Amino acid sequence: MRVLVKGAGVAGLTVAHELQSRGADVIMLEPHANFAGAASWLAGGMLAPWCERESADASVLERGEDAPDRWEAILPDLVTRNGTLVLAPPRDQSELRRFASRTTGYHWLDEAEIAALEPSLAGRFREGLFLPREAHLDPRQVLMALRANLTAAGVTFTAEADGDDGYDRTIDCTGAARIGTLPGLRGVRGEMLYLATDEIALARPVRLLHPRIPVYIVPRAKGRFMIGATMIETEFSGPITARSLMELLNAAYTLHPAFADAIVTETGAGVRPAFPDNFPRVARHGNVITLNGLYRHGFLLAPTMAAEAVDLAFSDHPRGERSL
Ligand SMILES: Cc1cc2nc3c(=O)[nH]c(=O)nc-3n(C[C@H](O)[C@H](O)[C@H](O)COP(=O)(O)OP(=O)(O)OC[C@H]3O[C@@H](n4cnc5c(N)ncnc54)[C@H](O)[C@@H]3O)c2cc1C
Repeated sequence: MRVLVKGAGVAGLTVAHELQSRGADVIMLEPHANFAGAASWLAGGMLAPWCERESADASVLERGEDAPDRWEAILPDLVTRNGTLVLAPPRDQSELRRFASRTTGYHWLDEAEIAALEPSLAGRFREGLFLPREAHLDPRQVLMALRANLTAAGVTFTAEADGDDGYDRTIDCTGAARIGTLPGLRGVRGEMLYLATDEIALARPVRLLHPRIPVYIVPRAKGRFMIGATMIETEFSGPITARSLMELLNAAYTLHPAFADAIVTETGAGVRPAFPDNFPRVARHGNVITLNGLYRHGFLLAPTMAAEAVDLAFSDHPRGERSL
């Protein structure tokens, strides 16, 4: 089967991987070089379904629980399984209890246990939550590795195609570009920044709770940290605002004052594609399959949703729809 996959974000690349491993002949259409048009490039890369359960439906946890295993099968050695640490400044301790009451899969840590897990945070927080089964990955490393593997396996990447003729199926994974043409799809803006410092080392993502602006800090290689992310109901993808920059930097400083001397190496804003229920959706109409609406769960849910999309592509039924 010859398949055109539109969009080389995490959705399109996992779909292409799944298609290629099931023997399809895959061509990828992606107009932007270097992931410039992809929300996926700006993601935190947290595979954190228990943390997400605090604000998401149980099905996100059920379908996301095996995400580290699924990624490991696609790209061995790129998943870090060190869990997640959830903290709150002393004035927001009630937020920790509220968070704990809305999810499972955690245990409480005292000050000494926090210091044992993250020596850089010794003496800074009296208690916290640890979610040991969560994991994280570096989205940029993953996207580049997927693209390189697909290219090596014979998948063609092109910036232009003459329409869908000549393909048995088209799988549309163009994310926020479909806002306005895919009913119900909206954008949720996420602003983020990168800091670099040798003063602090973290082994796992840390979520810092706040009643208005919960923030997370995800460690990357070579003393870099991704700080994210705002959640703003707009499809505006322009540069980060001064308010968001201040709030993200404040949170980093609250986690550790040494972040004040870190270098700001990058700021950015991406648009998360979301349906009204915030669940991703796969739909087939004739030979066109659409996978979209990955919201804040693109890395968490792409492998499982890609498998659903490819099942629909290989099915004999010309119509179908799957959600979580
Ligand atoms: C700041 C931030 C932090 C996040 N953190 C996390 C996280 O920690 N964990 C997690 O699981 N998720 C996270 N997410 C969510 C995740 O990034 C998204 O759900 C995911 O990136 C959506 O992937 P996608 O492939 O659908 O869209 P995209 O990554 O946006 O890819 C769509 C691609 O389609 C291309 N395209 C557009 N138009 C066309 C066209 N006409 N033809 C062909 N190609 C086209 C674009 O150039 C782009 O490359 C985060 C998102 C943001 C913004």
